Amino acid sequence: MNHYPEAILKLIDSLSTLPGIGKKTAERLALHILHAPDHEAATLAGDIIELKSSVRLCDTCFALSETERCRICADPARDKSVICVVENPTDMAAVEKANAFTGLYHILGGALSPIDGIGPEDIRLSELFTRATPKEVQEIILATKTNVEGEATAAYIQNRLATTGIRLTRIASGVPMGGDLQYVDPLTMQKAMEKRYGC
Ligand SMILES: [Zn+2]
Repeated sequence: MNHYPEAILKLIDSLSTLPGIGKKTAERLALHILHAPDHEAATLAGDIIELKSSVRLCDTCFALSETERCRICADPARDKSVICVVENPTDMAAVEKANAFTGLYHILGGALSPIDGIGPEDIRLSELFTRATPKEVQEIILATKTNVEGEATAAYIQNRLATTGIRLTRIASGVPMGGDLQYVDPLTMQKAMEKRYGC
């Protein structure tokens, strides 16, 4: 690979930092970009720069957003009395895709994992507890993953909110054990949402 000019080697290095992209694929992509028309390469570079400068987190639910409040939080048609708690934006996307939920979200940004040193202060739990006032919220759906970390996180939230009078439910039925929500098909997600049970 060393026979390439410096600029190509640099791009190969950058591309190979992306998940799932090894050196070989990075080389192929770099050469593809090199041979692409100027405007295509410029669009790609521009899109990456714009993504980094325009996408932020929603102040309320921490979803990816271009404004202080994301489209879902700002939508008057969404039911503000129900909050669906998920670990990541990809999980939120999976729930949205199923079209079976009309409330708001709270994105934790991970799950509790003592082994990896991730404690309650490392994910957005205090922000959730601040939002979870019985006056505003009637139900919190715990849609964390069904693996050990997801279950531990759901149990922690359940414990903390047990005395608030807010209805706590868990979606799990149909979601495979250890399963990542993003791999659950929309129909299964719809069923899991309909069949959620009280904690
Ligand atoms: Zn939001």
